[in-house]
Amino acid sequence: MELKITCIPGDGIGPEIVREAKKVLDKVAQSYGHEIKYTDILMGGASIDVHGVPLTEEAVAQAKAADAVLMGSIGGDTTTSPWYKLPPNLRPEAGLLGIRKALNLFANLRPAVLYKELAGACPLKTEISDRGFDMLIMRELTGGLYFGERKTVEENGIRKAIDTLTYDENEIRRIAVKGFDIARKRRKKVTSVDKANVLDSSRLWRSVVEEVAKDYPDVTLEHMLVDNCAMQLVKDPAQFDVILTENMFGDILSDEASMVTGSIGMLASASLNDTKFGLYEPSHGSAPDIAGKDIANPIATILSAAMMLRYSFDLDKEAEAVETAVKEVLKEGYRTVDIMSEGCVQVSCSKMGDLLVERVRK
Ligand code: NAD
Repeated sequence: MELKITCIPGDGIGPEIVREAKKVLDKVAQSYGHEIKYTDILMGGASIDVHGVPLTEEAVAQAKAADAVLMGSIGGDTTTSPWYKLPPNLRPEAGLLGIRKALNLFANLRPAVLYKELAGACPLKTEISDRGFDMLIMRELTGGLYFGERKTVEENGIRKAIDTLTYDENEIRRIAVKGFDIARKRRKKVTSVDKANVLDSSRLWRSVVEEVAKDYPDVTLEHMLVDNCAMQLVKDPAQFDVILTENMFGDILSDEASMVTGSIGMLASASLNDTKFGLYEPSHGSAPDIAGKDIANPIATILSAAMMLRYSFDLDKEAEAVETAVKEVLKEGYRTVDIMSEGCVQVSCSKMGDLLVERVRK
């Protein structure tokens, strides 16, 4: 199979971690008989330095011409970098918002996995962390409260702010379909999270999700109120497979879920549109404090590349080969500095890439 992948190395540790992910993808291609055609584009600070803007139309066109985009991370030190003296629409992060919009990426996927070997980093009680967990938060990304009409007015000398939470049934249906499709590739359980005891938008959410569920009789659906979900994530995270939720609830719950893993350098993410196209990136930022030192953890980016194989190319076996390699390396005791613990062997970013390449097998 031919895989057309556009890479955005970006800023800070971005180029280092994308380089390692490409090494692993190349090994997958070699082992399984695929051909990868890469193009690189500039975004964020790297694009500002060359073009004066964080994202050019040519870069967007190149991204659209690919099957999928693999990104490192963008942005610099927000207090010292000259990029942050520019107006907000010319700063690095504007590039990210711009590309998400241009590619119509409405579904955000963030897996939160607790590896047995890293259970010590989990802030939960050991009787909970010992059970491990492997969930995926599917968050609607382009609707809801963050995109509704808003205004601040003054009435009789009192300031008043209004935000609007709107969803139509089509917006809910398309994210629900993604959620159920992805649950089919996992443990076949969807927990739809809403606030249907209070909000009309949640009541519509719940009824559309139930309609979609009829097409997936093999997938179990449960509904959970968002306040209960926030509690369950710390009480019994092992119960979750796919959590399907709207924009603001997903924003908060996905951060909570990633914090309970305790390992920011391990967390992958994907943003998808209604085709197979997706943008894959680690959940962490560009870590300017450690850039250029070859000590960053490349695993979040490499696991994002595995998500790309699974969700954009339907190459489930290849994705599993990468995920298995990660588990093996952790089991053998290799760690980058951010996840280092006593008795383990500390390795650099590039060495971690090499170790994973060796362990990707057919
Ligand atoms: P950050 O995630 O970059 O770093 C937080 C801490 O985690 C730092 O100490 C860093 O060294 C460490 N860290 C992060 N990733 C690591 C890895 N792979 N290996 C080892 N250690 C790692 O968050 P921040 O410092 O708040 O932000 C830095 C820059 O990144 C800012 O410009 C911010 O806007 C940007 N950012 C970009 C994205 C994105 O591109 N999607 C996301 C978040 C932040």
